[in-house]
Amino acid sequence: ARAAAVDAPPSPGALADGTKIALLANLGKPADAAEAVARGAEGVGLFRTEFLFLSASQAPTVAEQRTSYRDLLSAFPGKKVVVRMLDAGADKPLAFLNDAHEENPALGLRGLRSLRASEDILREQLTALAEADAETEADLWVMAPMVTTVEETKYFTGLAREYGLKTAGVMVEVPASALLADRVLAHADFASIGTNDLTQYTMAADRMLGSVALFQNPWHPAVLRLVGEVGAAGARTSKPVGVCGEAAADPLLALVLVGLGVTSLSMAPAALADVRLALSERTLDETRRLAEIALAADDAAGARNAVAEAFTDLP
Ligand code: PEP
Ligand code: MG
Repeated sequence: ARAAAVDAPPSPGALADGTKIALLANLGKPADAAEAVARGAEGVGLFRTEFLFLSASQAPTVAEQRTSYRDLLSAFPGKKVVVRMLDAGADKPLAFLNDAHEENPALGLRGLRSLRASEDILREQLTALAEADAETEADLWVMAPMVTTVEETKYFTGLAREYGLKTAGVMVEVPASALLADRVLAHADFASIGTNDLTQYTMAADRMLGSVALFQNPWHPAVLRLVGEVGAAGARTSKPVGVCGEAAADPLLALVLVGLGVTSLSMAPAALADVRLALSERTLDETRRLAEIALAADDAAGARNAVAEAFTDLP
């Protein structure tokens, strides 16, 4: 029986009381899909499309993109696959999209802002995705990076619907959109919290700069309070709220995120097993208690220590 259990496919993510928390994969290229499936990913929570663009001196053609998206989607029949529109700028500059001379690229024309400035690239991406969607069985969700305002939300979801894409949402990785999450979600089908950038922008510390790396910690209660705003808005509007930043891969922090209202977690496939195990050990009420403990701390280290202690003390 023991050998059979080892061979059985990993079970879907669930808390000890049965509450389902979808465990999804962050992927950077279609070739990584097989490993994610083997590790029990229930779909893809973040497909970074930058890989198609980063090595190119100009944007890939619609046909090239369609092939890649089709390869990705066909690995997940019947499963959710969230594809993020090109997130260029700041830490991922593209010669044909970004101005290399910005003094503060993280605060500049990046993410959806740069796509909007070159709308043809965004339209080509949506065209390729709609074509790949029509040829495959996956449940395709599209989302925009670095969305800051309600107006940007309306712009992107409106455009996605023009292309017949049914499910369109936004990444919440800027405090402004976290604080207005109710109004953002009024115009989006879902939100996915990018804790890497949300931490950078909340703590005002460049995530690329080693000298301020200590600030880049998603355990900080200020970051968690913003996550809680989005989770609560998701519950009020009955819209799914996921996390696709590195925070989701930390088993203890994953419990806190769930306690803050997050309903799916997306991470590097190698992290799935540990997070699945942590979730299975605690109920929703217990994750909410852990979240309160984290929010009451003064700083990131205090939050982590207090939650670790409380986790051990729980029966
Ligand atoms: C994030 O910011 O948390 C995120 C998932 O996006 P990226 O790391 O690609 O900026
Ligand atoms: Mg980001």
